[in-house]
This record gives sequence, structure tokens and C-alpha cells, in this order.
Amino acid sequence: MDKKVIVIGGGAAGMMASIVAKRNGANVTLLERNSRVGKKILATGNGRCNYTNMHVDINNYHGKNPKFVYSCLSQMNVEMTLNFFEKLGITPVVEEGGKVFPLSFQASSVLDVLRMEMEDLGVKIVCDAFVTDIFKKKEKFIVTLKDKKTFIGDKVIICTGGKAAPFTGSDGNGYELSKKLSHSIIDVFPGLVQLRLEKSYLKQIAGVKVVGTAGLYSKGKLIREDKGDILFTNYGISGPPILQLSRKALELLNKDKKPILKVSLIDRKTKEEVVDYLKLRFTYLEKRTIETGLIGFINKRLIPVILKEIKIDRSKRVAQLSNKEIDKLAKILVDWKFEIIGSQSYKDAQVTAGGISTKEIDSTTMESKLVKGLYFAGEIMDIDGDCGGFNLQWAWSSGYVAGKSAALTILKG
Ligand SMILES: Cc1cc2nc3c(=O)[nH]c(=O)nc-3n(C[C@H](O)[C@H](O)[C@H](O)COP(=O)(O)OP(=O)(O)OC[C@H]3O[C@@H](n4cnc5c(N)ncnc54)[C@H](O)[C@@H]3O)c2cc1C
Repeated sequence: MDKKVIVIGGGAAGMMASIVAKRNGANVTLLERNSRVGKKILATGNGRCNYTNMHVDINNYHGKNPKFVYSCLSQMNVEMTLNFFEKLGITPVVEEGGKVFPLSFQASSVLDVLRMEMEDLGVKIVCDAFVTDIFKKKEKFIVTLKDKKTFIGDKVIICTGGKAAPFTGSDGNGYELSKKLSHSIIDVFPGLVQLRLEKSYLKQIAGVKVVGTAGLYSKGKLIREDKGDILFTNYGISGPPILQLSRKALELLNKDKKPILKVSLIDRKTKEEVVDYLKLRFTYLEKRTIETGLIGFINKRLIPVILKEIKIDRSKRVAQLSNKEIDKLAKILVDWKFEIIGSQSYKDAQVTAGGISTKEIDSTTMESKLVKGLYFAGEIMDIDGDCGGFNLQWAWSSGYVAGKSAALTILKG
């Protein structure tokens, strides 16, 4: 058998595609620009690799056509993914929100077992192989590296990732390779990323962490809400709920729709409940100033900033506060409003929104509709998932489908 599949990019999607293509009988060569495969996997889940989620659903995915994920996610669903990894040695453990990690809690375990499986199967792994050109001549693909070495294959699977965390090797060069093959790119921007806010006092509260709710609003309408640890930083705001909102926030910002972030510092309480509580609290702290009267209720570093924001003199005695002032205080505590002005860069982002237009790819095989024999898998496509294991699941599922389709069409052909 001399029919060959060339996989470009040794990330999650590329390794899965290589394994599945090889298991289905193809002769597979994996080309990776770094000196080792899977660099990004090591950084996932804070070094623990949240490799899937028990609640994977089409609604966790975004792009011009999120329904595009449906076929891949059914062909390799969560159960199959858990089974695939369990058979390679990864014992799953499910944490809050359905997030699945290896029981070793080491991302390196996931990479180790994928690498071992590729070696056992006989996938030819070529590292330090930076692909700079892909050219189709008659029925063959000619893949050229930066050092001018060439590889010839019957099928090519592009898995070069997006632009997020470019230090791991995915810097967006795959879009250029794909453009040369006549594919179009939906505008890309960082997804799952910290947000920059418009406020003069951010430096004063940088480092303060609260457990609260973050709500994204546009034109007064709630777009999305998430709870959890929220961290104020010198540029704006971070933490899991913020990352979850960031994609939608940046999409609105790109359309000039002025996204607004509202943070509730007092989780699970309405404004009315906070008013009642403050009134009660101030009866037994009546000798205190408002500044000291809030110690123990909210983070001390937030107190002067919040009081300045609602224009209440910090030396005012709590007993002298009017109902209107208590109302204003309660409102900011459950509804602190910020204007979103941007985000941190790709360097800090966990995923790329946008990418190769899914209109040009067959959702059941991952084959290009423009170039026969060319396939895509992973983050390079215009699909991005929520935080919580959904992006790696997309890489596994699309890698599985691309690898299988590329190998099987060879056997049939
Ligand atoms: C810090 C961080 C934490 C994350 N944590 C999680 C998590 O816990 N759970 C989750 O589901 N998702 C997580 N993600 C997202 C997830 O890691 C990615 O969506 C996923 O790894 C994408 O896989 P991929 O194979 O498509 O691309 P990548 O992993 O980016 O792999 C692309 C590969 O292609 C190589 N390459 C690029 N261009 C070329 C070229 N021209 N020639 C040869 N090789 C090339 C690159 O070097 C790279 O190895 C995280 C991301 C980051 C940055």
C-alpha cells in the first residue's frame, strides 16, 4: 500500500487524525513545525488538560454556522472520546460543570499516550517541519517545507490551529496556506480571553478576586451570564466567567454594538435583599463610617473605589446614610457596570474565533468542497467552543472524522 495521507500540524486535531487514518489503513506522515508534537496540550486546563466535557452540546459552539459541528460530534461523541482515551490509559475524572480531566491531573499524560499510540501504529512523525506550501498536481499533493524538502501525498489534512497562544506554534500561518488553495477565511479574533475595561481606577483594584456573576449586556438586553471567580486586573477583568463571555463581547464590539459588563459582587442576592441586609447591618455598626462599615462584607480594596463611583463621602457615618444612598450602594454591589473596550491579545487567548469558512467544507467528512482530497480538522476552521473541554472535543471529533474519511476514500479509490 503506497497511498499516503499527510497531516500538517501535530496538535490535538493532527494527532487524532493521524491515529485514526493509520488505524484505517493509510500510510501517514505527520509534519510538525516545532521540535516536538503537542506543545499546546501541555498548557491546557492549567496543565491538567480538561480534555472533554460530559455535557457537550451544539449550543457550546460558535461560528457563522455552529450546526456544522453536529456530524463530527455524533461520529465521535463524548462516550467514544472517553473510551478512546481510556483504551490508551487515561482514566477520566469528572469535575464541576462536567469537565473531564485525566486522573493523573497531568496534561502531559494525554500527550504521552497520543505520542505512544502514534509510535506503536507506525505514524511517521517529522518534527522541525514547517510547511510553507501545499500544491495539487493532478491527483497528488506536493507539500513543501521551509527548508525546501518536499513530501508527496494522496490526501492532505490541515490541522495547523488558529492564532491563539502563538508561542505553541499556531500563529495563523495555516490560513495563508489554505488561502493559496482558494479557501476563504471568516475574520478571526481572540476567543476565551480577558477583557479590557474603560475605568480610571483599575490599577487600584488590580488583583482583587471576587466570587460573583458577570453579565454581558447590549442595548440593555442580557446576552449571556456566568458565575464564578472574577479577577480585576490593571487592564480590566479576567476569570472563567469573563472568558466565557468574551467571544460574544468582542463580536458585539466588532459590530460597534457597545457591549456592557455588569458584575454582581454579592452572588445570589437581589438588590432589594442587599438593601434590607445593609439597613440591618448598619443598625449594629451605627458608629462606623461607611468605609469601615463595609469591611467584612466586600473586599476592602473595593470600598473606596465603589464609594467614589457612587459619589458617597467615605467618612460619612452609616447612621447618616439616606435611603437613596443605601439604594445606590446596593445597586452597584449587584450591578457594577463597565464598558468593554477590547481584549488582551492572542498571546493570552485560549482559542481563535473565526477561521476557514465552514461553507467550503463537507461537514460529514471534513473534506474541502473546493479541493478534492484536502481535509481540515480542529481550531483552524470557523468553529470555537466554550471554556470547559469543548475545544479539545472539537479537535478530537473533527480530527477523527478527517482522519477516517481521508483513509477510507483512499481505500475505496
Ligand atoms: C492556555 C490554553 C489552555 C487551554 N485549555 C483547554 C482545555 O483545558 N480544554 C479545552 O477543550 N481546550 C483548551 N484550550 C484550547 C485547545 O487547546 C485548542 O482549541 C486545541 O488544542 C486546538 O487543537 P488544534 O490541533 O486544532 O490546534 P493546535 O493545538 O494549535 O495545533 C496546531 C499545530 O500545528 C503546528 N503548525 C502550525 N503551522 C504549521 C505549519 N505551517 N507546518 C507545520 N506545523 C504547523 C503547530 O506548531 C501546532 O503544533 C486551551 C488553549 C490554551 C491556549
